[in-house]
Amino acid sequence: MNGHCSTWSSDSERRRQGLAVERPRVCRKWGHGFRHGGTVAVLVIGLWGSGWLMSAPPVSGTGRWVQRTWVVMGTYLTVRILHEDPVYAGRVLDDVIGLVQDLDRRFTLYDPSSELWALNRQAGGPAVPVSEPLWDILEQAIAYSRETKGAFDVTVGPIVQLWGFLEGPRRVPSDEEIAQARTRVGYRKIDRDPSRRMVRLATPGMVLDLGGIAKGYALDRAVERLRQAGLRHGLLNFGGEIYAMGASDGVDRPWTVAVRHPRRPNRAWQTFPVQDMAVSTSGDYERFFVARGRRYSHILSPWTGRPVETDVVSVTVVTPSATEADALSTAFFVMGPEQAQALVGSDRCRYVLWIRQQGDRLVEDPRSVWPPRPCPATTAGVREFGSLAVRQMGGPSVGTTLGVAPQIAYVCLVVSGLIGARIWATTGCFYA
Ligand code: AMP
Ligand code: MG
Repeated sequence: MNGHCSTWSSDSERRRQGLAVERPRVCRKWGHGFRHGGTVAVLVIGLWGSGWLMSAPPVSGTGRWVQRTWVVMGTYLTVRILHEDPVYAGRVLDDVIGLVQDLDRRFTLYDPSSELWALNRQAGGPAVPVSEPLWDILEQAIAYSRETKGAFDVTVGPIVQLWGFLEGPRRVPSDEEIAQARTRVGYRKIDRDPSRRMVRLATPGMVLDLGGIAKGYALDRAVERLRQAGLRHGLLNFGGEIYAMGASDGVDRPWTVAVRHPRRPNRAWQTFPVQDMAVSTSGDYERFFVARGRRYSHILSPWTGRPVETDVVSVTVVTPSATEADALSTAFFVMGPEQAQALVGSDRCRYVLWIRQQGDRLVEDPRSVWPPRPCPATTAGVREFGSLAVRQMGGPSVGTTLGVAPQIAYVCLVVSGLIGARIWATTGCFYA
């Protein structure tokens, strides 16, 4: 369990939003956090008392499903795997969470002892040696920046900060402030020396923010570790980023995953089967504020320095790589279907679903490449996606995590239930 969380909003701002103010700090790393107001807390405690907490997963295929949920990177990570030996499976899960916690400690923007913090602090100064994972994620992030012509850009930190999405208060800044902050944004200002694995942020005041890619990256590393341990079937849900490995019955049945309805949190927009793919959704509903009747979302356009203001409300990307799905869903939200359509297609095994607002209706953009199809390059497994994950295995279960760290109390709720015939859902994104 990770307890390094930042002060996110002032008491008055939190009161305006109807949140409790007795807990002064909210866990909100990686662009996600937990709304821990009364309703959620009561629900968690109620479920706990009902004895449904982490009920045993059903037996399937030739083994037994073992599932655990942790709070890490400011959200929840649920991993469910199939193995004949639950003791071995438990050890593998310990290993996986250790790995993800290690990435969290390195990549967090909120902990002065993190590696990312140290790198950001040296902005405008000398080059800094970085660890292999930080180097690796930066390499991938920069590659996606190039491919998306800067729509995805991990140097967006200064504008994310300016609009109050890092530490609050959320507000609409002046044009001068935006212009000033934009001088500190741009992935080309990241200088790298591969021979010595050193990184230099060329401009003072630059802030790298890995919130748009870190969970996907961590999922890929976790899946890699599971495969190394000989596991073939499992489902990983990292605060809505999903990876489905192998089969949902441990044999050949694909996992069924749902795209969350952008305006109805507990409803599925659509379900689809997935195998050995990652699913990631970026939506305007995840974190936003409303000022003078306008909705400002947490995904910012590096080109304008402003939150993306289009009729796109959610973008779901399905690809074999979770890092790619995460980065591209963020990028495609910025780019919109017109610009992004050249980067997707079944030939590249990149599937995308754009949902747009048309008047008071939500519609799927015809340029979507949907539904996803199995890709020849991938083999076993399945990935889920989004804030809602649906599976085809019997037996309802409910998992909750209630964490109290020195400076914060946070609540994470994962509900997996039978919504209709043989449909499972996982909800858990309670955004602060
Ligand atoms: P996601 O939910 O994966 O779309 O990521 C959104 C988060 O990524 C935000 O909360 C910011 O921390 C960060 N972010 C916002 N805009 C961008 C952008 N254009 N490129 C990269 N990261 C971004
Ligand atoms: Mg993303």
